[in-house]
Amino acid sequence: MSLSPTPAEAMIQEQLLSENRGISYPDVIAAMRHVPRDVFVPEIYRAAAFTDRPLPISHGQTISQPFIVAYMTEAINPKSTDRVLEIGTGSGYQTAILAEIVKEVFTIEMVPALAKQASTLLNKLGFTNIHYRQGDGSLGWPEAAPFDAILVTCAPTNIPTPLLEQLDQHGKLVIPTGTDNSQQLKRITHTDDVFHHETLLPVRFVPMKNLRR
Ligand code: SAH
Repeated sequence: MSLSPTPAEAMIQEQLLSENRGISYPDVIAAMRHVPRDVFVPEIYRAAAFTDRPLPISHGQTISQPFIVAYMTEAINPKSTDRVLEIGTGSGYQTAILAEIVKEVFTIEMVPALAKQASTLLNKLGFTNIHYRQGDGSLGWPEAAPFDAILVTCAPTNIPTPLLEQLDQHGKLVIPTGTDNSQQLKRITHTDDVFHHETLLPVRFVPMKNLRR
């Protein structure tokens, strides 16, 4: 008799490791195994926590699809010594995946209730390497800059300049940009004061809200 895998393990095998997905970074896979995705999902969606799609959280926001979380984490090439800025804490799930891998995570969320809920949950789960801020992430976190990587989980129409300015040498910014109907995930790498742009894949994120508009 073979035991069927848990929903969490099935998510890893089918959505991340399968040939057409190809997540390969061991630290990312270990983090996705270790962080319990179901506790970041509202009660009514718990049964669907490990399915291959984003899910609603509250305030019209979403928790990203597991593959996208793994893909974006891999795209910054995270190292255990890194300090990473995340824009759009949301449920805190992506924050937790990053915090498992890197030294310090700085995370900014615009919606006060979500910022509060995520920090409460992440503290309860025992994370001690996360710094929280409630506010407009398009301004970055100048006092804590420069960052080895910046990962953005809401989509502005254009890349906010402060985020480029807060990237360390060899730093990577992974960010969805575009309009509601058409967004691309981009990676910008800072090398010798040149910003190298790559387009990674089409995506769909909630828009980045902007206080100045
Ligand atoms: N990584 C999150 C994704 C949440 S959705 C998760 O997996 O749960 C994106 C989040 O970005 C939302 O919570 C939204 O409120 C937030 N957001 C939108 N505009 C923002 C801004 N300018 N600054 C900070 N957060 C913002």
